[in-house]
Amino acid sequence: MSQSPAPAADQPILEFVEVSKVYGQLHALDRVSLAVPEGEWLSIVGPSGSGKTTLVNIVGCLDRPTSGQVRLGGRDIAGLNPTGLTEIRRTMVGLIFQKFHLIGHLTALENVMVAQYYHSMPDQAEALAALDRVGLAQRANHLPSQLSGGEQQRVCIARALINDPRLILADEPTGNLDAANEAIVLELFHQLHAEGATLIVVTHDSTVAGQGDREVTLEHGRLVRDIAHRDAPAASDGGNR
Ligand code: ADP
Ligand code: MG
Repeated sequence: MSQSPAPAADQPILEFVEVSKVYGQLHALDRVSLAVPEGEWLSIVGPSGSGKTTLVNIVGCLDRPTSGQVRLGGRDIAGLNPTGLTEIRRTMVGLIFQKFHLIGHLTALENVMVAQYYHSMPDQAEALAALDRVGLAQRANHLPSQLSGGEQQRVCIARALINDPRLILADEPTGNLDAANEAIVLELFHQLHAEGATLIVVTHDSTVAGQGDREVTLEHGRLVRDIAHRDAPAASDGGNR
């Protein structure tokens, strides 16, 4: 679904080898090894403070591990400098957070166009298409304060999809939503998954976690459980499997 080159057969889109992130004495991540095949929907669960956000931030090129290897799209990113990390983030990854981080004095459309500015060029028609994709074309000229929580989260998803990312990272994406809006966001995730995107979704919610192909559990920075909910999908775009 993206312009990025397809990976070699059977090469995971993401691979962690013995990844640790250490703050003083605290191991936020403790020798985590994990491989995510292209097209998989991976749920990450675990108690507060178990390292979920730390893991997502490393995958999203917002943070670097203390030790270990991280390969994203076949490239080793653990040692990249900030410029290299920014480039990978811009071209490969879409980030969705629990807190919406929308700019309050800009409309929904303008918020999406700000994301375009960082990725390439602002393009109003494309930004409107992204909002249409999440069912918000009619709300394009509303300010965040004029949108419900669910609508704000959908603006964030439109913003995350603007670079057509192969890998979508969501940290508690439904944490602030009611059941109806959670269902809308999950439906969007199902569509993206069906199109071949890889999803990594951190969640406290067992309903959300159960939607994934696979669920891993972190405790005290360690990966303590790894359960398949269903077989990984056949990649729809000539990916691996
Ligand atoms: P989760 O997302 O699972 O709640 P986090 O990844 O945010 O957990 O945090 C894991 C652990 O690392 C926690 O104990 C947290 O306090 C600690 N931590 C996270 N970021 C920092 C930081 N910048 N400095 C010090 N400790 C941190
Ligand atoms: Mg967190």
